[in-house]
Amino acid sequence: MQKRWVPVFIFCLALFLIFAAHLAGRNMATPAFTFAEEARTVYLTFDDGPSTRVTGNILDTLQKEGVKATFFLVGERIPGREEIVKRIAAEGHTLGVHSESHRYGAIYASDEAFRKDVCACKARIEQLTGVSPHVYRFPGGGRHPSKEALLTDMGYEIVWWNAVCGDEEIRGANAETLVRKTIETAKGKNEVVLLLHDSAHHTATAEALPAIIAYFRENHYTFRAF
Ligand SMILES: [Zn+2]
Repeated sequence: MQKRWVPVFIFCLALFLIFAAHLAGRNMATPAFTFAEEARTVYLTFDDGPSTRVTGNILDTLQKEGVKATFFLVGERIPGREEIVKRIAAEGHTLGVHSESHRYGAIYASDEAFRKDVCACKARIEQLTGVSPHVYRFPGGGRHPSKEALLTDMGYEIVWWNAVCGDEEIRGANAETLVRKTIETAKGKNEVVLLLHDSAHHTATAEALPAIIAYFRENHYTFRAF
């Protein structure tokens, strides 16, 4: 190469390197973003309500954040709290059955006892809201093969969970602990079904909810109800 061409060669080489680095940078950034993150979904599910104060606070937060959730109700807890159940329905959340009594001994005594328990809770929800519940959550969780078959025959979708906020698992947990437990158990899952509770003593759950929603939002999850 003639001496006078050396600066031109260096200039062209530098241009090429800058362009290549730019392309490489884009290529590295692109797959980490887009589809996988857009496909992330979280279902917020609340068991054991309704309660006046906690369910009300939770509904306020969901309304403010524009998020829909699923509430698995205990039938015997509805009398005296009819307005809150109507509000859950009116604000577009999903109402599910979580048993009439929540007493394991009675519910799981036989298939017939189980069926009656489900129907009693369902009837209350229907009478009050006109909504026919289509989702069920087992009190205490676990697998119950004959009862699962019964629920499927009755047209229910059974909902378990794959992440918890810890409001039942960690005694006396404060809001900060519940947020941490949520992140710990939801991390790395593209579809999260988060278990929370809205019975009367779960004030920390209502308190933690804005930060829980913020975490999923920051991590590009879409909120859905069943
Ligand atoms: Zn429960």
